[in-house]
Amino acid sequence: MNTAVYPGTFDPVHNGHIDIARRAAGIFDRVIVAVYDLPQKSLLFNTQERVAMVREVLADVSNIEVSSYSGLTVDFCRERGAHTVVRGLRVISDFEREYQMSLTTRELAPEIDMVCLMTSLQYAFLSSTIVKEVALAGGSVSQFVPEPVSAALRARLTHHTP
Ligand code: ADP
Repeated sequence: MNTAVYPGTFDPVHNGHIDIARRAAGIFDRVIVAVYDLPQKSLLFNTQERVAMVREVLADVSNIEVSSYSGLTVDFCRERGAHTVVRGLRVISDFEREYQMSLTTRELAPEIDMVCLMTSLQYAFLSSTIVKEVALAGGSVSQFVPEPVSAALRARLTHHTP
């Protein structure tokens, strides 16, 4: 069984992430979308919420599992018997970050390789930050995220409006 881990913050998951996860599921026998527990950035959704959203929007793909994790991605991969880490690439700055990450991964765990999938053109501009900025400013995010995520954003931002 060829297992890959697709790690990220997914705060929240958007159509660009979903595209990468689905394409990875077409390449590997099993894909584990791994939601990083405590990234060094401020979060709009807690871990449980982020996992629940990813799970809901990818529920139709039978070889995708969703799990949260903390600590090193390579340790999570070893725990789950995965030898590949999948990441998505949009722009050159992503490449630089992923290149550095990939060399670090190689140092830490030579048996684990990183595979980067290029974004689909229509998602090249899309990030969780952009989604949150548009939602915060009162814009519609329905073309960027599936409906459950759009609803969660509306609820969270309405709740947080003073
Ligand atoms: P991280 O904080 O680990 O970068 P993200 O949730 O922002 O977590 O992203 C997870 C992965 O998905 C990263 O590899 C990122 O480059 C990729 N990704 C994010 N947005 C897109 C997109 N629009 N198209 C393709 N890949 C993307």
